[in-house]
Amino acid sequence: MKMFINGNLMDKDEKIDVKNPFNNKTIDTVPEATKEDVRNALESAARAKKILGDMSARKISRILYDIYEVVLESQEEFSRIITLETGKPLKDSRDEMKRSAQTLQLAAEESKRIYGETVPMDAGIGGRTALGFTMKIPLGVVAAITPFNYPINLAVHKIAPALAAKNSVVFKPSKEAPLAALKLAELMGSHLPDGALNAVTGPGSVVGDELVTNPIVNKISFTGSVETGLSIASKVSMKKLTLELGGNDPIIVLDDADLEKAAVSTAKGAYLNAGQVCIGVKRIILQKGIADEFTDLLISETRKLKMGDPMDSETDIGPLINEEAARKVERTVEEAVKNGAQLLHGGRREGAFYTPTVLDLVDPDMRLVCQETFGPVAPIIRAETVDEAFTIANNTPYGLQAGVFTNSMESALKAARTIEAGGVMINKQPTFRTDNMPFGGFKMSGMGKEGVKYAVEDMTRTKLVVFG
Ligand code: NAD
Repeated sequence: MKMFINGNLMDKDEKIDVKNPFNNKTIDTVPEATKEDVRNALESAARAKKILGDMSARKISRILYDIYEVVLESQEEFSRIITLETGKPLKDSRDEMKRSAQTLQLAAEESKRIYGETVPMDAGIGGRTALGFTMKIPLGVVAAITPFNYPINLAVHKIAPALAAKNSVVFKPSKEAPLAALKLAELMGSHLPDGALNAVTGPGSVVGDELVTNPIVNKISFTGSVETGLSIASKVSMKKLTLELGGNDPIIVLDDADLEKAAVSTAKGAYLNAGQVCIGVKRIILQKGIADEFTDLLISETRKLKMGDPMDSETDIGPLINEEAARKVERTVEEAVKNGAQLLHGGRREGAFYTPTVLDLVDPDMRLVCQETFGPVAPIIRAETVDEAFTIANNTPYGLQAGVFTNSMESALKAARTIEAGGVMINKQPTFRTDNMPFGGFKMSGMGKEGVKYAVEDMTRTKLVVFG
């Protein structure tokens, strides 16, 4: 695949191999951009922002609807590329594409709803004769940087709201999974003025760093790990910044919960995409009275899962993004077991595959649950009381989403009030997202919100106009 700069495909002699995690075979290559290439992309975006800024909302909405239609028609082709480059089971890639199309549709709708407001100037001293109103105007050039695990929907969550608010974009997909992303950029770009959307590939330390530090960029919209997010935050200077970072999401099951429903939801949340989901279930906090019964139910849900070739529509669990990622999970689980956790199911690695794994008697201080373990692991922590369960849930530097299973209105309300996370799901796994809902974490899990309406708002700035 090639990069897409100023409306043209662009290749380089230096290439990066893109591998299929299922068999470690090279599927394709992408160009390795230099800082100079990134600057060219940024300059073309700077030219295009003027053209977009003059476009009517009706026109940009029409373009986004057109792109939505084409993506809808090409869903299957995109899904297969996602599965080849990430190892994500085909049925999950299909879900991702369905959602990506919807995200585009939401952006096409939202582009017509960008409102300013009138300001009651006469409420302030000296304002009695003034008439004031605000306008929401584009920021200019947006840099969108995305991770490997949802290579299309996370990209669309940045690119489509940026365009809806009439910004131009330079997009950098993950070098682990850039193929579907480059195809998307080319497809979208063919509907847009030259330079309105550019896509560059290469290492984060070169391409990412130029995007983060170049003064042409007005906003960085980043999704990825806390580590990279922190490094970006230390360099952005006066750019607007949205960070969607890692999670360590708890699912809490209380004594009065519907256990069967909770077990099904927990398995869904812990093993989706082989556990490589920011809002995946990373800690299972069980109240003492139901812990044994729930654990049996979770093991039987885990046994139902089919691990294998991700291209097979029946497969539930494919490989992790590469063997090193699976080795990292293996080491973390082994360390927990050495320190007293009890392995109840799974715990085996084969190449990039890691079997879905249930661990009981996990101590809240173990690295397995203190850091983000990005793999199909279900670590159980036992708590005596509702309060203790919520305290454990909050005892983490992360705060993306949380799930609580209970039939008590009082406990549900207490969870809503006390759990420090960007989203609290009652009787649902934290791994729940619709593409219009406000989405984004507290604490080290990030800042700012995505979800199309909220992302569009964040892609604008406010100008005040006063008539004397
Ligand atoms: P990562 O941080 O390694 O990489 C993300 C992107 O940042 C890639 O495109 C990478 O090339 C780029 N990058 C790397 N170094 C950079 C630098 N110095 N400057 C600028 N860009 C740089 O993350 P990953 O391993 O691809 O993805 C997994 C992580 O993403 C997990 O922590 C996961 O929880 C998180 N994530 C968060 C969300 C969310 O919405 N909160 C969604 C998906 C994934």
